[in-house]
Parts: sequence; structure tokens; C-alpha cells
Amino acid sequence: MRHLISGAAGFIGSHLCDRLIAAGDTVVALDNLITGSRRNIAHLADHPQFEFVEADATRPIAVEGHFDHVWHLASLASPKEYLAHPIETLESGSTATRNMLDVARREHARFLLTSTSECYGDPLEHPQVETYWGNVNPVGLRSCYDESKRYAEAMTMAYHRTHGVRTNIARIFNTYGPRMALDDGRVVPAFLDQVLRGLPLTVFGDGSQTRSFCYVSDLVDGLSRLSNCDERYPVNLGNPQELTILEFAERILRLMGSGLPIVHEPLPSDDPRKRRPDITKAKTLLAWQPVVTLEDGLRETVEYFKGVVVAKA
Ligand code: UDP
Repeated sequence: MRHLISGAAGFIGSHLCDRLIAAGDTVVALDNLITGSRRNIAHLADHPQFEFVEADATRPIAVEGHFDHVWHLASLASPKEYLAHPIETLESGSTATRNMLDVARREHARFLLTSTSECYGDPLEHPQVETYWGNVNPVGLRSCYDESKRYAEAMTMAYHRTHGVRTNIARIFNTYGPRMALDDGRVVPAFLDQVLRGLPLTVFGDGSQTRSFCYVSDLVDGLSRLSNCDERYPVNLGNPQELTILEFAERILRLMGSGLPIVHEPLPSDDPRKRRPDITKAKTLLAWQPVVTLEDGLRETVEYFKGVVVAKA
């Protein structure tokens, strides 16, 4: 199999490359390196099944040859990044999605869109099931991300309905693991960086908002199963174990044997109050559920970040 992956030098993209290459497949990896990093794919640089193309998926995609699978992962996934680059974020959900769909259409390839739990916005239903339409502020600060992914889902369904492209849509919930950027602002790297540097943990608001954290190997396994399935409607991929952010900070401090203080900072606008995936559909359709515990996943992630902190010093 030959795969085209946008966002391949990103956190999830690079793990997907590893998995496909380990399975004996060939990967053409696209990334414009806005948030992705060469470091994430450096170990693949000379691999005969791997080719890196520095390119922006919002521009016409000039790649040669046939593809069996087209994966559109390119996105500015961290709130810090998408708030700093709202127009690029909207473009990666709109123009880039369409460009990648065009490649899939031309090559009669399967297409997978990595969408997001942000499609549910600040959800009024809990846990979130795929049939819930969401509660998104269409003009708020986060709308550049949420609406671009909702548009991307709509475009993906339109290409399936109009052109018969074999599409899948994964709604990814909070995911963590090695190769997240230490400074990308998301809560896992933020807290781990703070502990490693002996700084207070910054909990936004009172910390009663909830999230559910999935380890990256579980997520990539889910993506891989979904890409071979004929379900066209979105499928949630995430870990249903839900924690408040305050509990999460305390878990990290306990795990790392740290007595650092927790400080509270203002809650960003439209920060969802709660988030937990209902994964019944993924369990039923894909025989998938997360298997890595939070403790094990965090341990692996801490080891990775220790290396990054040492390399930076
Ligand atoms: N958060 C926090 N401290 C930080 C970074 C994030 O308390 O230093 C909170 C944030 O307000 C949100 C949750 O942690 O409620 C998850 O934030 P993240 O940016 O990782 O992802 P989100 O789920 O909001 O997209």
C-alpha cells in the first residue's frame, strides 16, 4: 500500500508514519512545518519506504504516482497555535481538505479526515455521542478551529456523496504522548514542562472543566482500523476516562513525586466545560478501545520530554 499523509511531521502524523512503515507500506509525508517538526520524522529520513515533501496542503498538491490511502491530518491542533494562526487554521480545514480529497478522488484512494471533539463545542450532551450536533460558538475565538473541522467534515461527506470517494471521519478527543511540542500550550506538555522545570502548574479557571486523555498509540491504532472500514459517518476516537483538569494536575504531581504548587490562571474564552467520548461506535465497528493506562502513557511521555528538555539545555 502507498499512503499520502498531510501533517506527517506532526505529533499524530509522525506516529502514523511509523505504524504504516512498520506494516511494510510506503509513505509520502507532506508537511509545511508550521507546527510539525523534522525532528519527529528524522528517524525515517533515510528509510526506503519513506519520502518527505515539504509542502503546504492548501496549495495544489504536486505528488506523483498512485496512492491507496490519503490521510488529511494537517491542522494547527493546539489552541495556542490556532489562536495565533486563525486564517491558516481555517484554510487547513477548507482548502487543504479539498485538495487532499481531490487526490483521493483522482487515485480512487481511500480518504481519512482527522476531525475533532471540538465539533461538539461546549457540549450540552454528555458524554458526546457521534449523533450529537454540538454547541459551537461560530464567531468566538475558537471558531477558526471548530468551524474549519465542521466544514472539513461536510466537504468530506460531500465528496463521498457526489464523487463516491471512500471516506472516513475520525473525531479525535484529547490525545497525548511523545513528540508533542513541549511549548505548544496544550495541557499535557504544559504541565510536564512545568514539573520538569520546577515551576508551579498553571490550572486555568478553577480546574473543574473535564477532559479525557488518550495515549497516541491507542489513537493511531483506532485510525488505522477506521481507515479500513466502510463507515462514512464520524467515529469518536478517544479514551473515555474523564478527569477534571485539577485532578489531572494532581495526578501528574503524584506520578512525578513532586510537591510543586498549583496556581490558577484565567479560563480562556469558550473553553469547553466538559468532554468525554462515547466510544460505543468504535467498539462495535472497529473492535477498538484504548488499552494504555494514564499512568503508563504519562510515564512514556515524561521520558520523552526529559530528553527534549536536556537537548534544549
Ligand atoms: N489548561 C490548563 N492549563 C494549561 C493549559 C491548558 O488548565 O496550562 C486547560 C485548558 O483550559 C482546557 C484543558 O486544560 O480546559 C485542555 O486544554 P488543551 O489546550 O490541552 O486542549 P483543549 O481540550 O482545550 O483543546
